[in-house]
Parts: sequence; structure tokens; C-alpha cells
Amino acid sequence: MSEIGEGRKPKTVKIDEGTLIDHVSAGKALKILKVLKAKEGAVILALNVPNEEIKVKDVVELRKRYLKEEEKIKVALLSPTATISTVKNHVAGPGEKIEIPNHLVDILKCPNPKCITNKEREPVKTSFTVINRKPLKIKCDYCDKIVKEEEIEKLL
Ligand SMILES: [Zn+2]
Repeated sequence: MSEIGEGRKPKTVKIDEGTLIDHVSAGKALKILKVLKAKEGAVILALNVPNEEIKVKDVVELRKRYLKEEEKIKVALLSPTATISTVKNHVAGPGEKIEIPNHLVDILKCPNPKCITNKEREPVKTSFTVINRKPLKIKCDYCDKIVKEEEIEKLL
């Protein structure tokens, strides 16, 4: 977890309390809302905002919603550039960049239908190991199925 430079200046946002997800890769905001099962009416979106670092970004504000560690990892898998901060009284705290851990347990489904983690009668938590970071490549610890970055979105 590291702070980014921009996070040092307090940033004013529209929501009073909750979570700000900033520096989202353009086009990923709606997918993030879906994965987080965010409720309509509790969300403020800004899409395709010009940005110095990543050219164009999406911004997501979640009113009265705070992310669990596994949810932060899901956001990072969808958009590695995303930063997450807690909002209090319309002010966002320092942006936290989420690092994808080497092991992903119970975060995403295995695409292999024959994998033990997809057997209904033996519920086994999915488990993947990161084998490459740029581009991201992960491997199922049970069936050795390799999943590439662009496939992850469908499995969250
Ligand atoms: Zn598998």
C-alpha cells in the first residue's frame, strides 16, 4: 500500500461520507459498480475525466459504503491504477493504491468447468497464484489453468 503524490492535498468530493475510488481506467467504472454490487442512488460517477497521469480516468464515489480488503483487490484487478480513499465531511483522505497480492483466495472463479472449485457438492474456495504482473497472469492452484489479465473481468 503506498500513497500517491496527489493524495497529499485534501480533495473535496460530493458525497459526505463513504469511499472515493479515483484514477479508474476509463471505461471500468460501471464494471467496478457491478462487482461491488453498489446500490443505485448511492453512487456518483464521473466518466472520462482528463488526467495528467493516465490521460483519461473514471471516478467513483460511494456514499456510506466502505470496501473490504477483498473488494479493494477486485477493484485493483479491474483497474490497477485505481486509488481508494475514505471520505469524511466531503473530504477524501490520502489515496491508497492497492497491490495485488501473490495469492488470490476466494476472489475470482476458475474458468475451468472441471476444476474442483466449480463442483457444487464440494465447495472449495478458489485459489490463484500470480505468475506474471505485467501483463497480469494468474494460475489456478487446483487445476493449473492460466488466466490472463483480459479474462479476469468475467470471473469476478
Ligand atoms: Zn481451477
